[in-house]
Amino acid sequence: MSTTTPALSAPSVGARFDRTTIERRELGARDVLIDIKFCGICHSDIHQVKDEWGGSIYPMVPGHEIAGVVADVGSAVEKFSVGERVGVGCMVDSCGECEYCLAGEEQFCVKGSVLTYNGREYDGEPTFGGYSQQIVVKDGFVVKIPDSIDLEYAAPLLCAGITTYVPLKHWRVGEGAKVAVIGMGGLGHVGVQLASAMGAEVTVLSQTLSKQEDGLRFGAKHYYSTSEKSTFKELRSSFDFILNTVSANLNVDAYLRLLRVDGTLVNVGAPAKPDSFHAFSLIGARRSLAGSSIGGIQDTQEMLDFCAEHNVNPAIELIAADAVEDAYDRVERSDVRYRFVIDVATIGQAASQHGS
Ligand code: NAP
Ligand code: ZN
Repeated sequence: MSTTTPALSAPSVGARFDRTTIERRELGARDVLIDIKFCGICHSDIHQVKDEWGGSIYPMVPGHEIAGVVADVGSAVEKFSVGERVGVGCMVDSCGECEYCLAGEEQFCVKGSVLTYNGREYDGEPTFGGYSQQIVVKDGFVVKIPDSIDLEYAAPLLCAGITTYVPLKHWRVGEGAKVAVIGMGGLGHVGVQLASAMGAEVTVLSQTLSKQEDGLRFGAKHYYSTSEKSTFKELRSSFDFILNTVSANLNVDAYLRLLRVDGTLVNVGAPAKPDSFHAFSLIGARRSLAGSSIGGIQDTQEMLDFCAEHNVNPAIELIAADAVEDAYDRVERSDVRYRFVIDVATIGQAASQHGS
């Protein structure tokens, strides 16, 4: 039998959310039914609800920072049991056979991984995400949340955590590396904590100094305002690695020039419009410009365990379902401290209040 569950659904591009219900598929042998407790709001939710990247599928139930408790498991599931605390990130399926899936990098699946929402299952059914009270997910795409991380703090790690952990790991950021993080929002504030836990000397490059105290508390050694021209002079050729978490276009050349010889600027921020840069900004110091996409399931588990061990904890603002639109506005104004997390129980309550 399928399950009916309350959800927040965007009916069309940029529209307000409806309080509605959606159907979750009948539990297959390898499926896990999860009672969702908390879901983070990622800037990617906003890009997609507003169709800023193109190709959005409506109605859309966003949410790929899902933390909850196992409610039921299929007959062939061995890894999870009822009552266990679990998470789901940005993907819910992949082919499982290609070289990238076999290497634990399902995000690069040749067939295309199935995104948690605004995607399609391989049978063509649209996927619906974590702004809902229950979800059915294949066991291979479910991770265990360590005991020491409360569920509401675990939620943001399922996207913001993995997306910043993987590039730091891939480019071997470690002891003594000079790292800058551009933008201290949802991704950025976790990136600062992860990089400093890995032993790097971290600098935050933010639009203003208004969050400096928080940045230093998250482990940064230095904090600069990018509104000051002097910042770009002072920091010229300073960094081995720069992680760009900004959701908007930047002056790429100005940031490339902050890299030392052989330094790398990695984009995880995904603005709707293209960036441009001058080849000389790379040539002059053999610099690299790169990008990175979320991360595989094995790395997601590793990242959660790393966060538990190193006390990496997102800073969150817990909100009810009826505050999601306001939260979107605040994220867009860079007024987020530092991740909005929906208390998912309020979705059902909102539905009954609104009588729909
Ligand atoms: P967020 O919470 O809004 O953080 C972005 C931060 O960028 C803001 O807090 C702000 O930090 C800075 N910023 C915003 N507008 C700016 C502007 N015009 N100029 C300079 N700085 C600006 O967003 P998020 O959830 O962290 O996501 C960030 C981006 O990553 C989004 O584009 C999202 O879609 C993308 N993303 C990519 C992946 C991936 O796999 N690559 C995964 C998840 C998300 P300050 O106030 O400190 O300047
Ligand atoms: Zn995300």
